[in-house]
Amino acid sequence: MRVLVTGGAGYIGSVVAAQLVDVGHEVTVLDDLSTGHEDAVPEGARFVRGDIREPGAALDGVEAVLHFAARSLVGESVEQPGRYWAHNLGGTLALLDAMRAKDVRRIVFSSTAATYGEPERSPIVEDAPTRPTNPYGASKLAVDTALTAFAGMYGLGAVSLRYFNVAGAYGRFRERHAVETHLIPNVLKVALGERPSVSVFGTDYPTPDGTCVRDYIHVADLARAHLLALEACAPGSHQIFNLGNGTGFSVKEVIEVCREVTGHEIPAIVGDRRPGDPAVLVASSDKIQRELGWKPEHTAMRGIVGDAWAALSGK
Ligand code: UDP
Repeated sequence: MRVLVTGGAGYIGSVVAAQLVDVGHEVTVLDDLSTGHEDAVPEGARFVRGDIREPGAALDGVEAVLHFAARSLVGESVEQPGRYWAHNLGGTLALLDAMRAKDVRRIVFSSTAATYGEPERSPIVEDAPTRPTNPYGASKLAVDTALTAFAGMYGLGAVSLRYFNVAGAYGRFRERHAVETHLIPNVLKVALGERPSVSVFGTDYPTPDGTCVRDYIHVADLARAHLLALEACAPGSHQIFNLGNGTGFSVKEVIEVCREVTGHEIPAIVGDRRPGDPAVLVASSDKIQRELGWKPEHTAMRGIVGDAWAALSGK
């Protein structure tokens, strides 16, 4: 299939683009390189540097779009809400209009489990209430709402995938953010000697060891779900699936595995809670397992950290 991957120079987009190329799809990556890296575009994909609001010829002949291009920092979204609404919702609406103009009828959207907000029940299922607690989650939820309307009105075939903590690496494709806020890359930077220590944001949560529990999904498993979703796009329907590892890991557990994998002592300093962090975030992926036959293969934290470390350190 001829596909367009927006944000394909970023972490998740580049892994999906690489897997699409691997199985024989004809891939164009559209990315403005605001946070992505041109050298993350996989070999075999065509690269167009540009804005999703004006995809132009990048959409010519395309049969499906996999849409990753977005602003994705929760804290920044609280400080600069306009930016998130403009990029994530405004940008996607413009992309959807351009798709309609060029008769592109399938989209797989990189949504987020942040659309649910603070969960009432764990693990989170797809019909849980959607009450995002920040503009990032709200802007992604608004796109999901728009996709449902576009599917109903124009016959678009859409699938949204909702996930939280993505980790690991796929070969050389890894997480590379200018401002790194995520736990695993920050811990590994200590082992690399780029940071003196890692902060543990709160040890007084109602969890077994007092630190937050998250559901870390391996980026290769996550990417595979996008390929299944692409095949599952059906005209006039908008399907939503959660994705997760199935198991939660605490911040302390993650740091301990990073110590084992890297052989570095990794000093950890206990700090205050980070505002807005719920104690436990774990997604149920029963629906996608049942309906699309997806199954996570890399569920052990050791393997997830091991792949991230190999890509980062070259070891
Ligand atoms: N965290 C931490 N120290 C860090 C970065 C993150 O203790 O340097 C914690 C954070 O409070 C959360 C978990 O690690 O409980 C995962 O955070 P991350 O930013 O990786 O992902 P999020 O869950 O916010 O999407």
